[in-house]
Amino acid sequence: MPDTPIRHAVLLFAMQDEALPLIRRLELDDKGHLAPPMPMRWFDGRVADLRVDVVVLGSDRRFGVDCIGTQPAAIAAQLVFDKLKPDLLINAGTAGGFIQRGGSIGKVYLTGGPFYFHDRRIPLAPFEPYAEGGWTLSNNAAAWVDTLGLEQGVVSSGNSLDMNADDAERIERFAAHAKDMEAAAIAWVADQHQQPMIAVKAITDLVDGEHPTHEEFERNLHTASDALSEAVERLLRLLAA
Ligand code: SAH
Repeated sequence: MPDTPIRHAVLLFAMQDEALPLIRRLELDDKGHLAPPMPMRWFDGRVADLRVDVVVLGSDRRFGVDCIGTQPAAIAAQLVFDKLKPDLLINAGTAGGFIQRGGSIGKVYLTGGPFYFHDRRIPLAPFEPYAEGGWTLSNNAAAWVDTLGLEQGVVSSGNSLDMNADDAERIERFAAHAKDMEAAAIAWVADQHQQPMIAVKAITDLVDGEHPTHEEFERNLHTASDALSEAVERLLRLLAA
């Protein structure tokens, strides 16, 4: 992707609880819905000379929970490119990690890719690479990782919090460090627009650990979201400098 100067960054979060620490830290203004009737919420503000917007997927009209997963994430990304036109799109959120690849609770990965899908099974030759993706959408991520003392990683996305044997086989083949439910969907949209995108993911649960994912997720969501907002703020200050 072209290295354009970054004057405007948009952060896309799936869940409100992931985003709130940063919204408070940066004292962003609540701008309401980004594009009614869609549920995405919009907040804006500045970090020094950098314009910063936060978009959160919002809460589901029918079920009243956060709109996690790929289709709200893709629609949010499209709305962001269409309406906000950032120089850099950052998907910030939590993810499952892997002990066997150095993962631990609260660890933060910053990556420009590759972003894969692990739950799209289309065994028709030309569609297999399409199904798995593997987009890389930033050349700058490695330098930011070094400056901020974070780690680069491979992110793999799917629409389930758990992981079946087929998902596990792909995640192993991709050597993924972070398992989430949005990044690859956002990456596909960024690739259509030929715009840079990175992900910053804090680990809430260890997929290959001994505790059930959903229990670990709930226990660690706030700690991980604090670590996430701290890392994201440091990144924004670096971009603003
Ligand atoms: N149980 C939670 C819902 C969490 S869903 C609740 O009660 O609110 C998981 C969200 O966090 C998704 O947006 C996803 O991107 C991320 N996530 C964290 N850990 C994950 C994992 N192990 N697998 C997939 N997504 C994960």
